[in-house]
Amino acid sequence: MCGIAAYFSRSEAGAAAQVMLALYSQQHRGQESSGITTTNGKFLQMHKAMGYVKEIFSQDVLEQLNGFAAIGHVRYPTRGSAVLTNAQPYIIETLSGPIYAIASNGDIVNYEEVALELQSRGVHFTSTNDGELLGRFIVYHHERKGLEITEAIQLLMKRVRGAYSAVFLTRNHLYIFRDIQGFRPLLMGRVGDDIAVASESCALDILHATEIREVQPGAIIVVTPNTTYEVPLSPALFSGVGEAPTMRQCIFELIYFSRPDSYEFGEYVYEVRHKIGAKLASYDDFEADVVIPVPDSANFIALGYADAKGVPFHMGLIRNHYVGRTFIRPDQYLRDESVRQKFNPLKDFFRNKRVVVVDDSIVRGTTIRKIIRMIQRAGAREVHLRIGSPPVRFSCFYGIDTPTRQELIANNMTLDQIREYVGADSLKYLKIEDLRNCVNQPNHFCYACFTGQYPVPKHAYLRTSMEKEQI
Ligand code: SF4
Repeated sequence: MCGIAAYFSRSEAGAAAQVMLALYSQQHRGQESSGITTTNGKFLQMHKAMGYVKEIFSQDVLEQLNGFAAIGHVRYPTRGSAVLTNAQPYIIETLSGPIYAIASNGDIVNYEEVALELQSRGVHFTSTNDGELLGRFIVYHHERKGLEITEAIQLLMKRVRGAYSAVFLTRNHLYIFRDIQGFRPLLMGRVGDDIAVASESCALDILHATEIREVQPGAIIVVTPNTTYEVPLSPALFSGVGEAPTMRQCIFELIYFSRPDSYEFGEYVYEVRHKIGAKLASYDDFEADVVIPVPDSANFIALGYADAKGVPFHMGLIRNHYVGRTFIRPDQYLRDESVRQKFNPLKDFFRNKRVVVVDDSIVRGTTIRKIIRMIQRAGAREVHLRIGSPPVRFSCFYGIDTPTRQELIANNMTLDQIREYVGADSLKYLKIEDLRNCVNQPNHFCYACFTGQYPVPKHAYLRTSMEKEQI
C-alpha cells in the first residue's frame, strides 16, 4: 500500500504545495519515504527522501519545486527494500533529458516477466520498484516503438498484471490511470479550473476539491493545459486474450487501510465499518459492560457494535500517534517496540468490567495478544475479542505487505487455538457472507486473503517450485 497524488494547475504555479498537502493527508498509506516531481513546461524537477512528508517538504524545498503540475508519492515497501532508490516518483531520463515521471500504488504480479522482457530489449532499471517498471514500459513503447502515450498505457494494461493506480507526468501533460481490475482506489476532482488526484478522497477534501469522482478501472484520464478528457477501457485490449477481467477492488481498503473519512469504491469507509460492527454485534447475546476499539482503524467497527447493542463505547486505549501504524512497520523488532510504546489503557474503563474489544483483523496475532494482556492487567473481568474481518489465511500480492502464509496465525491455528494464544475469553470473526452484505456491490471486490481465490494468480508467474511453496 502506498499513496499517490497529483495536481495540475491552469492558473499559476504552486502545484507542489498542493501535492504536499494531499500526501500529508495520506501519510497513513506509507511512512518510509516520500517524493514530489514537478514540471514547469520545460523540464521536470524532483525531491524525495526517507521519512515523513512534513519533515521532507520544508517551505524552502517547496519553493524550489516550482511548476504548474506535480505528482507525489508516500511509500510503504512491498517490493524492494526501504531505501531511497526505491522511493517514488521515478523520473525517466531520455536523450531529451528528464521529461517523464511516474508515481504508482500497488504491486505487479508478473513483474519479473515484464522486467526481463524489457531488459532483453536494452531497457535498464535503477531499482526493483514497480513504479519504475510501469514508467519504463510506457517510455519504451512511446519513444522507441512510436506509440502515443495513451496507446502505450493501454498496452501496459494488457501486458502488466496486478495492481497499479498511477499518475504519469510529462512536460505538459498528466496521465491518470488505474489497472483494469481496480485493486487500489484512485479519485480525482476539480479545484476551480485545476485538477487534483489522490488515492483517497480525504486528500481531495483538504484541497477543497469538488466534483470528486473515481477513476474507473482500465480508464486513462489525460489532463492538458486546455482540456481534460478520458480514454475509456477498450474492449479491443482483450481481443485474443478473452474477456476483460471483472473488477476486484481490495476489500481491506474499506476494513483497515483507508481513512474513515474517505469515500472510495462507491462506499463511505466509516459507513462500511459501522455496518461491520453491527453484524458482529448480531453474533452475541450476552451483556457487555463496555465496547473498546483498538484505535484507530477499528473505531467505527466498535462504534457500530456498541450502537447496535446499546452498550457504552469508550476510547479505553489511548494511542500515541507518533509511533506509527504497527502493521506497516516492516521489521519485527520495530513492530514489537511499537506495540509497547503505542497503547496505554485508561484503567477506569476496564476495572472489573466485562469488555468487548474490537479490532479490524488479526495477522500474526502478536499485537492483539499484548493488548489483551494490557487490558487484563488494567483489571478487566472478561475480555471478548471481536474481529471486523474473516480470518486472514492467505498472503496478498496486490500491494499489501501481508507476511507469508506460514506467518499468518489463522493459517496455522484453529479458532480456539487463536483464542487461547491471544488470551481472550471468547473470539469471533466476521463471516465472509456478512462482509459481502456490508458493501453495495460485493461481486466487485477481492477477498483473496480470506479465501485464497486470487483474481491474478501469482503461481502462474513463479518459475521455481520453491517459490511456489513459499507463498
Ligand atoms: S488479497 Fe486481500 S489485501 Fe490483497 S487486494 Fe485482495 S482483499 Fe486486498
